[in-house]
Amino acid sequence: MDSIKIFSPSSVANLSCGFDVLGLCLETIGDEMIIRKSEKPGLRIIKIDGEDLPLSIEKNVAGVAAKSYLNKFPSEIGIEIEIYKKIKAGSGIGSSAASAVGAVYGISELLERNHEKIDLIPFALDGEKLASGEAHADNIAPAMLGGVTLVRDLNSLDIIKLPSPSELVVTIIHPKIELKTSHARAILKKQVPLKSLVKQTANIAGLISGLYSNDYDLISRSLRDEIIEKERSLLIPKYNSLKKSALDIGALGCGISGSGPSIFALSKGHIIANEVASGFKSIISKLDIDFDIYISNINSNGVKKMI
Ligand code: ADP
Repeated sequence: MDSIKIFSPSSVANLSCGFDVLGLCLETIGDEMIIRKSEKPGLRIIKIDGEDLPLSIEKNVAGVAAKSYLNKFPSEIGIEIEIYKKIKAGSGIGSSAASAVGAVYGISELLERNHEKIDLIPFALDGEKLASGEAHADNIAPAMLGGVTLVRDLNSLDIIKLPSPSELVVTIIHPKIELKTSHARAILKKQVPLKSLVKQTANIAGLISGLYSNDYDLISRSLRDEIIEKERSLLIPKYNSLKKSALDIGALGCGISGSGPSIFALSKGHIIANEVASGFKSIISKLDIDFDIYISNINSNGVKKMI
């Protein structure tokens, strides 16, 4: 095997009540990467298509993640990476995580190293640090493992793959405004009122319980954010109208995807998910803002080889 093609999926982090710990993997949007053996030793990113991102190993999350992996597990054979970006950088649906995960998984598969996916997460995290300044696995974990994931403890890689009820469908709207993750983090208050913490804890427990029991009503009641949404939503145009529209149409819940500006809604079934997308479109079309809308099932496999 001289080269392989990888599909590395986008993901939604936080899921309203699970700030920095919950995430889910999407099926219809993801980057493609080709990882190739080369007679010339060393690691190179030789092509990036679809986004204006640096080819330099040190400045690209794919390069940093791949280098971190190869430092631990060196290769005599040279490696070349081509990245076909389908996920817009800075969209809030895990663009940087997809590149980091794809690079590490791709090299490990190409070299037939037989690593468990979970053991590749620390190297992907090293890449993600470049984009967000801190290590967060709420996009890395779902992109790598698939499904809905809970990062209980990052240091010990205590990451749990939760069930994802089959009828859950995600609608995403990406208003194309610039919103830096660092800014969206910087505006957050450092203290949390005890009352809000109690509500948030109850909701995250409710959401996880709902996922295990296929209880869509409980999932819906629990998809709430008492802590982060109020401040971050101010950075997203028409956030409240978009959310109200999704909930009025019948979505189970709606919130900010990662640090935004994308917004996600979770619905039971494709009919409602499509109607939510139409609702989003009619609101955002009135603004002078370019946007993308996606509808996706939850991807239970995560990053994978393409045939
Ligand atoms: P997202 O949640 O969409 O990943 P981030 O703000 O976390 O958004 O990451 C995007 C940032 O990472 C941008 O500043 C981008 O220039 C940088 N970056 C570096 N390499 C990559 C890459 N391969 N893919 C995506 N973003 C990258």
